Amino acid sequence: MDRCSFCGRPKSEVNLLIAGVDGHICDSCIEQAHTIIAEEFKGSNKFDLATIDLKKPKEIKAKLDQYVIGQDEAKKILSVAVYNHYKRLGQPAMDEDEVEIEKSNIMLVGPTGTGKTLLARTIARMLNVPFTIVDATVLTEAGYVGEDIESLLTRLLQAADYDVEAAERGIVFIDEIDKIARKGDNPSITRDVSGEGVQQGLLKLLEGSIVNVPPQGGRKHPDQKMIPVNTKNILFICGGAFDGIERKISQRLNAQVVGYNASRASDKLDRENMLQYVAPQDLKSFGLIPEIIGRLPVLSFLNPLDRNALRNILTEPKNALIKQYVKLLKMDGMELSFTAGALDEIVDIAMKYKLGARGLRGICETIMVDAMFDIPSGSDTKVKIDKAYCQKHLNNFHTRV
Ligand code: ADP
Repeated sequence: MDRCSFCGRPKSEVNLLIAGVDGHICDSCIEQAHTIIAEEFKGSNKFDLATIDLKKPKEIKAKLDQYVIGQDEAKKILSVAVYNHYKRLGQPAMDEDEVEIEKSNIMLVGPTGTGKTLLARTIARMLNVPFTIVDATVLTEAGYVGEDIESLLTRLLQAADYDVEAAERGIVFIDEIDKIARKGDNPSITRDVSGEGVQQGLLKLLEGSIVNVPPQGGRKHPDQKMIPVNTKNILFICGGAFDGIERKISQRLNAQVVGYNASRASDKLDRENMLQYVAPQDLKSFGLIPEIIGRLPVLSFLNPLDRNALRNILTEPKNALIKQYVKLLKMDGMELSFTAGALDEIVDIAMKYKLGARGLRGICETIMVDAMFDIPSGSDTKVKIDKAYCQKHLNNFHTRV
């Protein structure tokens, strides 16, 4: 009779018996063996520092260039910050010279849809570390409706497959950080209680502390087992549109340039893009508490996307929209191409309706739906999309936006 060569149980007593060259193994022995392997390799998992693919800042930027158009300033700052962050992780616990490199969380200010999330996502993919994106608007102070601050670490834990050590070296992107700003600069008059409470909670995480995290997220409840996570080495990247911050920036700059050289200095300002002059005190005027700003020492901005940038976004990035359509149809043996006029038309529409980069996909879908429907069953193997084709198919689009 066939028996498990490990535990000796006969076939009738096990669920499954798998035959090998010279013996058998049962399902429970497989499971036990699996647990042993998992134990054995714990700590040398795929997120181990030695296996983090750490590139030099220039290489990081070159990689970002493949996916994100423009935004050179932000790319440079991010590349250096990420490089230093991971170098810092590699330093011995107690160095001889006792110089401890502190972490530099990052703040990205820029209009929505200009590539903040895309930058963070590209970096995380490149480094192969646990990465999560959370929306600051769902966070609330404990006791209010919404999610506790700690829940953002739950997401990171989940991204790390509950490997706490790996999560403790991960990256968290907090989107819409501007939405938790206190309304107004004067806390005693227009105090937005929940906004400030959330900021205080967030501060704890940014500073680096041991936080008890509910493994399933949501609200904490008394009989849930918590997982302690140390946030000391987690890199936080915050992003926000900070609508209206331009006004605070110009107020500050105008105040500064009163006097002898005033008119000349203010003449030099690029009034079209005030965000490039953003400074920590503007974030304070916008309603972030100084302690939070202090914990986000790397501050950078993203430029609004102009025509040129939108045109490049359509065709240049590694996974550019146009490349995706070409690939899709290539799978049907079709050769798809777009004329320059067609691409310009798509950009024109995005500019006209102020849809930004996010709108490009919707416009392309509208243009392409008929083509994608007809082409696979048609007889033509070559299809060219030109300006007239785009205009014809965008009729519907005009009535929708
Ligand atoms: P946000 O700044 O609001 O975080 P996202 O990074 O989510 O904006 O951008 C939305 C989408 O627009 C991206 O998924 C990407 O397809 C496109 N996009 C935005 N900015 C750029 C850019 N600079 N380069 C390439 N694609 C971009």
